[in-house]
Amino acid sequence: MQDTSEKNMLRTLVSKLPTVTVERAEALQNLQIRTVADLIKHLPMRYETHHGSMTIETAQTVLGDRNRMTELVTIEATIATIQPGWRRGRKSRVEATAEDETGVIHINWFNQPWVAKSLHPDMRIRFHGSLSRHEDTLQMNNPRWEEVDEREELEIIEGDLRPVYPANERITSTVIARLIESVLDQALYEIDDHLPESLRIELVMPELSRAYALSHRPTSESDANEGKRRIAFDELFLLQLGVMVKRHHRRETMHAPQLRWDDEIKKRIAARIPFSLTEAQERVIEEIANDMTGTIPMNRLLQGDVGSGKTIVALHAMLMAVTCNAQAAMMAPTELLAEQHYFTITQLLKGTKVNTALLTSSLPASERKVLIEKIGNGLVDIVVGTHALLTTDVIFSSIAIVITDEQHRFGVQQRALLRDKSGDESAIPHSLVMTATPIPRTLSLTIFGDLDVSTINAMPPGRMPITTKLVLPEDAEKVYTHMQSLIEQGQQGYVVVPLVEETDSELKSATGHAESLRTGYLQGSTVEVVHGRMKASQREETMQRFRDGDIDVLVATTVIEVGVDIPNATMMVIEHADRFGLAQLHQLRGRVGRGTLPGVCALISSPMTEDASQRLDAIVETTDGFLIAERDLEIRGPGELFGAKQSGIAPFVVARLPRDFELLRLARSIASKWVDRDPTLTESPLLKARLLRAHGKSLGLGDVA
Ligand code: ADP
Ligand code: MG
Repeated sequence: MQDTSEKNMLRTLVSKLPTVTVERAEALQNLQIRTVADLIKHLPMRYETHHGSMTIETAQTVLGDRNRMTELVTIEATIATIQPGWRRGRKSRVEATAEDETGVIHINWFNQPWVAKSLHPDMRIRFHGSLSRHEDTLQMNNPRWEEVDEREELEIIEGDLRPVYPANERITSTVIARLIESVLDQALYEIDDHLPESLRIELVMPELSRAYALSHRPTSESDANEGKRRIAFDELFLLQLGVMVKRHHRRETMHAPQLRWDDEIKKRIAARIPFSLTEAQERVIEEIANDMTGTIPMNRLLQGDVGSGKTIVALHAMLMAVTCNAQAAMMAPTELLAEQHYFTITQLLKGTKVNTALLTSSLPASERKVLIEKIGNGLVDIVVGTHALLTTDVIFSSIAIVITDEQHRFGVQQRALLRDKSGDESAIPHSLVMTATPIPRTLSLTIFGDLDVSTINAMPPGRMPITTKLVLPEDAEKVYTHMQSLIEQGQQGYVVVPLVEETDSELKSATGHAESLRTGYLQGSTVEVVHGRMKASQREETMQRFRDGDIDVLVATTVIEVGVDIPNATMMVIEHADRFGLAQLHQLRGRVGRGTLPGVCALISSPMTEDASQRLDAIVETTDGFLIAERDLEIRGPGELFGAKQSGIAPFVVARLPRDFELLRLARSIASKWVDRDPTLTESPLLKARLLRAHGKSLGLGDVA
């Protein structure tokens, strides 16, 4: 945060501060706080106007004759009893009583069954909620609560705005607040701003040091918001700047093979596919072709819901390369998906001169060596594979396009590492990334800000609807009885479980559950297993038997999440559905309803957390992948999505999406103007240094800025 050597407070280790004991230093370290600078960046998560807590007797008086009141009050009391009350279907109630020296209050939590596990008698709790009266007893419904920390000595000033800091069980917010207060003045004096004054004035934002002062020591909510807005802007701005610098670098200094696209190529491909393209497919193919006929390396995301027909679009891009005597690579996240793509592509290209190869990690070393040589000599035109493709010994003769399927599994930056023999450091292949989990608009401007986006917004004709039902574990029998009856009509199904093999947990495993279905609900049917730990050859054999109709039900882990395309499979059961992410459930479900019959998806679960409950509600309510992606973002927050975590991109601390979308747009437009004017950021060395520190590694800005 500081850059001049005679300023020392910000660099001081918190362990050197007078009131910080060894234990406190460790507790702070757990919160990623090592230096005073880290401490100053540790911002309040909220502010409390402290009126202090009241006794139960006072609460009685405050409520008076009313049956309920809307203002919120705080009561500190000790839990006397707590138990799960009733549970009807997915609705539940947890009931508790709490006491202080002056009386008793009843507390109810609706649809939060986990509360019963978190609280127990004798715990001292601070309840924050609205009061009501039910048959002469004082009560609170769904209060917010926190355990009272006995060590915390509150110095309450009536009406004061008290910052509440993220804390942990070893150090309280109050202690953190005091620590910050003790160094704040000196620290603020040392903070330099990386934005020029003119820009700050244009943005109507405070100086950085003032922003921190307003956040830690606000006199009003609007003060606090003004401070946080500036800090949130900086977070968004730095990432936008990184993305823009990278985009500029790619477009200005790198180049890709210029390919050909005309009606003749179009017709040749059309003659090979057994259907005509949808309008949406035609449109995205044109968008892609438009990029690939230029020398600026394409960096495009193709998004389209499960089953929208992305593979055929990818094939067009690959054949553009092959027509110009260059090579194409297609990378898939799993071996099963790579096998599936290879199968589809070879079927479509049967009888042509195009050479296609499958490269996965299960290929024996000797065969791999031969294949890599062929790839290097240009004897193979299209290579389909998994991550194994990414290893450095695979060097193409002349690679023109890399297609990455289902990129949210890869993380953002493992793309386009493929090189060819040209030896030209500024040459890279065009890149097309395909995903069935559309990127919500808000996110498409952040870590994906460097991507151009094409969207397939309509399904091929004749897609069958999928009905999704949520079923409690005790009703599983009905589900499997239905499955058995579909099997008797000649249809097939999937059962998805979270584990491969039996463990100590109560979760069902593929091998164990398959066995119990064979001897139980699905007696007489052929039930087989596929999972990621099987040998590729064995898995491919099982898939082939399923495709041929020799297997009725496949019990699988999420290996079947993507790409598996078997029209006769009409029903899917997902066991422990609460264990899966929203996008994952949507992908899984997309395996059915692919033929001429409608699909059914049964989610078996009794969700024990609020998040899980929301996920399952969302998946039952809609089959629209775009809506699901937006809901996923709301429930999980952007950091968790799309491999942002694996990619190492620092999550936002203050900025929150989609809430701060407008601020993001502002940050983006300022960053874009800046990079157009000053692509190497020479105007503000401090800004450049901070950008490199924040995102240099994760965005690979080393040779760029
Ligand atoms: P995804 O977008 O999920 O990868 P696929 O490319 O696997 O979808 O396509 C799903 C199915 O739809 C495949 O069986 C494919 O052959 C078929 N398909 C794709 N495009 C069309 C079309 N225009 N008309 C009819 N069927 C199509
Ligand atoms: Mg696909």
